[in-house]
Amino acid sequence: MQVLGLWPAWRLRTPVESIAQTVEQPIQPAAPVVAPPAQLAPPARPAPTPQPQPQPVIQASAPVAQVDHQHHIGEMDWTALNAAIQSCTRCDLAKSRTQAVPGIGDPHAEWLFIGEAPGANEDRQGEPFVGDAGKLLDAILAAIGLARGKNVFIANVLKSRPPANRDPKPEEVAACLPYLERQIELIQPKLIVALGRFAAQSLLATDTPIGKLRGQVHRYRGVPLVVTYHPAYLLRNPLDKAKVWEDLVLARDTMQSLKT
Ligand code: SF4
Repeated sequence: MQVLGLWPAWRLRTPVESIAQTVEQPIQPAAPVVAPPAQLAPPARPAPTPQPQPQPVIQASAPVAQVDHQHHIGEMDWTALNAAIQSCTRCDLAKSRTQAVPGIGDPHAEWLFIGEAPGANEDRQGEPFVGDAGKLLDAILAAIGLARGKNVFIANVLKSRPPANRDPKPEEVAACLPYLERQIELIQPKLIVALGRFAAQSLLATDTPIGKLRGQVHRYRGVPLVVTYHPAYLLRNPLDKAKVWEDLVLARDTMQSLKT
């Protein structure tokens, strides 16, 4: 409880190896295909040279492209996955983000914490959970003996920031979820902690209120999953820190039971 903010537990964050930082060069989106200028009139002397045929421009949101991309996501390694996220245009959030935020931490972590989407600070810095909510998450991790980047991976359901931090749209979640699914396949965590209503409901495919999802161990594709409040919510509702502590104890006990 002390570590959860009942003392000034802010501390220098331990430098961590950022998965995002391992991407040396993000994949650049394909250059648009430029059609040859239209001829307004037949040339005086018809040139024998054959004209290049305009190529169809495949929109990232086109159904065929989505199916292909989704198929590939399931086969990507970390480098390809992070590059794909950084250059992703699968939904309209690509137009307004500063940069995508894939996630950060130990690629073989036992603990996986999943939030909703990047905020303004995350969008600027390219790392999930920075700023005040990030400091509180660090305190939450410390409360159960964890630290960012040490046996912990942190990610969001959405990898790009919704404008003005509005709620994610269903089509944005549908477009982005394959990235998180691939991250989970690569990490193979022992336990997932869903931070907040949106992450919990998205992962469990339910609209059950978070208050009813807390206090029990769910399963996401066979992986135990515990639900608790998002740190940003806790900043607005500090009295609920006691409930988060209960959730952390449940998560810690569940992890211990998996190791015995
Ligand atoms: S939110 Fe996800 S699907 Fe949408 S552009 Fe960003 S990375 Fe792509």
